[in-house]
Amino acid sequence: MEHQNFIDLLYNTFEENGMKDLLDDNSAELLYRFAALLVETNKHTNLTAITDEKGIILKHFADSAAISRHIPQGAAVLDVGCGAGFPSVPLAIIRSDLAITSLDSTGKKIDFVLSAKEKLGLENLNAVCARAEEYAALNRESFDVCTSRAVARLNVLSELCVPFIKVGGLFVAMKSDKGAEEAKEAEEGIKKLGAAPTSVSLYSLTCEETAIDREIRIYKKTAPTPKQYPRKYSQILKKPL
Ligand code: SAM
Repeated sequence: MEHQNFIDLLYNTFEENGMKDLLDDNSAELLYRFAALLVETNKHTNLTAITDEKGIILKHFADSAAISRHIPQGAAVLDVGCGAGFPSVPLAIIRSDLAITSLDSTGKKIDFVLSAKEKLGLENLNAVCARAEEYAALNRESFDVCTSRAVARLNVLSELCVPFIKVGGLFVAMKSDKGAEEAKEAEEGIKKLGAAPTSVSLYSLTCEETAIDREIRIYKKTAPTPKQYPRKYSQILKKPL
């Protein structure tokens, strides 16, 4: 990954997608170093299938950055099922005002996020190895925003995410272009969890001639989540709300 080519493509991609204001010299350099660390670590630890420069910039960095405009200033944000740190690590890099927690049940992924935090000096990022439905027991209603990408269908994901959100806070679900069907299926369950739909953004992200269709579905927490949720994962899967 050649440094200047990466930085140029990063700026061009963010500009092409109306997000150039999210980058400066410092954040661009940190994103380059994070990409290099991801590719290097991925040689011996399976973290991601996307390892080419363009794929990382479009599908990991621009996609993660696209939720930034939906997150209020100074918010405490939880990323459920962060994997190698998406969307949380790029978000921590481009939004130093946020206090971000990356959560994943897989130890090697959290080890990677923690090593990125240390190597890049990301003071606004924390990482926890736990299952969401268990971590919720001690951390209910303690985040302003909970987000998640590529973890589960909305009717399962909502029970993993909504209990963490303070009343008045937001559930920012990152989806591909098939979110409408999932949203319908999750409608009743999300209501039971104490949240209501507020907006849907449908958009394409592009990098040179490649485009990906994405959706951001936003729900607002309107009432505390009843104490019986989240249930055990086996029950959530067997009988989604
Ligand atoms: N969000 C990342 C991304 O978009 O690149 C990773 C997506 S990966 C397909 C799904 C991740 O969710 C895995 O790393 C898995 O360990 C994690 N995961 C699945 N269920 C979970 C749960 N109940 N609690 C915490 N992490 C979970």
